[in-house]
Amino acid sequence: MLSRPRPFIGESTSLGRTARGFATLLLAAAVAVSSSVSAFAQNVPVVRDAEIEALVRDYARPIFKAAGLANDGIDIVLVNDQSFNAFVTGRRLFINTGALVTAETPNEIIGVIAHEAGHIAGGHQQKLRDQLDRAKTMAIIATLLGAGAMVAGATTNSKGLAGAGMGVAAGGGEMAQRSILAYQRTEEITADRSAITYLNGTGQSGMGMLKTFGRFQSALSLAGTQVDPYRISHPMPQERIANLEVLVKQSPFVDNVDPPALQQRHDMMRIKIAAYMQGQAAVARLMRKNPTSLASRYGDAQQTYLYGNPGAALTKTAALIKEQPKNPYFQELRGDILMKANKPQDAAEAYAKAASLDPARSGLLLVSLGQALMAVGTSDSLKKAVTQLNNGVGRDKENSEAYRFLAQAYGEQGDIPAADLATAEGHYYAGDYKNAKIFAMRAQQKLKRGEPRWVRAQDIINYTPSNKLK
Ligand SMILES: [Zn+2]
Repeated sequence: MLSRPRPFIGESTSLGRTARGFATLLLAAAVAVSSSVSAFAQNVPVVRDAEIEALVRDYARPIFKAAGLANDGIDIVLVNDQSFNAFVTGRRLFINTGALVTAETPNEIIGVIAHEAGHIAGGHQQKLRDQLDRAKTMAIIATLLGAGAMVAGATTNSKGLAGAGMGVAAGGGEMAQRSILAYQRTEEITADRSAITYLNGTGQSGMGMLKTFGRFQSALSLAGTQVDPYRISHPMPQERIANLEVLVKQSPFVDNVDPPALQQRHDMMRIKIAAYMQGQAAVARLMRKNPTSLASRYGDAQQTYLYGNPGAALTKTAALIKEQPKNPYFQELRGDILMKANKPQDAAEAYAKAASLDPARSGLLLVSLGQALMAVGTSDSLKKAVTQLNNGVGRDKENSEAYRFLAQAYGEQGDIPAADLATAEGHYYAGDYKNAKIFAMRAQQKLKRGEPRWVRAQDIINYTPSNKLK
């Protein structure tokens, strides 16, 4: 499922509304590293989704390799914003859902990633990038989006699912003021050239990049359009686009298009973002072009799950599974529907299947599996839930929401120090060191001095954030 992490602690009025899958579609909260951001970091719009994260990682991997950059373990951070933005700190790639849903082909996104890789390889803004890389994801998001987004985020809670994405977009104007990485014109030329080198090295066309940048260029003359943060941080004068066009058209790969399987995954991603973040009209718009395509039927199944009834959604999902039995995300959708239908045992089986089929080994699927096992409610399933949740956070350390479920599972087992330590971890990875320390100390009181969990609690107590973001 495409979900927004909930506040690790605190009230959220709509949380208890219905099934868990629905409830997790809420704006996240995180208390960030520095005091200057923590004041408004109550609702941070980040979305998590195993399918989209894996796809964007697949876009980035060959480019990073061609650029000679570390290409293992890149964390993909999906920012819930309808404007266009993307940047790489080094080990993390931040990208707006708006950029993903706007791009008609993988090549448009891959081109932007190639350009960003060019900035990294060129050492542009390296000092700031190092600083960002040491900061927690949520701290960067808070800095990036600023107070405007937080206010918009807060209002969406009462509007429910369909309106949630829209509410955040309303803050776009203010977000655009905040571009973390801003480049010089000469750096843009270097990054464009490098991007073409990487695209050529991977046999890919530069047309997608040209299309994207060209759109920004033409948007300059349009009054009243939403300002994309990407355009603010990357100067796009006419001359630059003209030079880029020459380079793109010189490439022997200019006419190459994305492989059909990759295009299909891209189409499914777009319709998923539309279904979860933008509402039914946006899905209908994407389906119109080819109503019987796999992506369209995927969007239809998701809409039926979100707005319709579980029985019909299951039937539609079964047809998808029949067509692509090895697609982990169809199994995941099946799990989500079964959770909504209050069939946690069946949901657990679907999530287990999803996890076993997932080449990207996403921790998110394991956390969903853990939640389903918790809902089954036997002592045996609870034990399995603890294992799966631990595996999930093992693969995905900054998933502060998963620690909440882990804490709950330990609590239900009566293991209070473990529950307190999991709560401490959740606060720690959300950047809320004050509460992390409180719970770490609480855990220590019931643990034997020097045992591994006591030592981990001590690490949290001793932690001092050394790199603050402005
Ligand atoms: Zn640039």
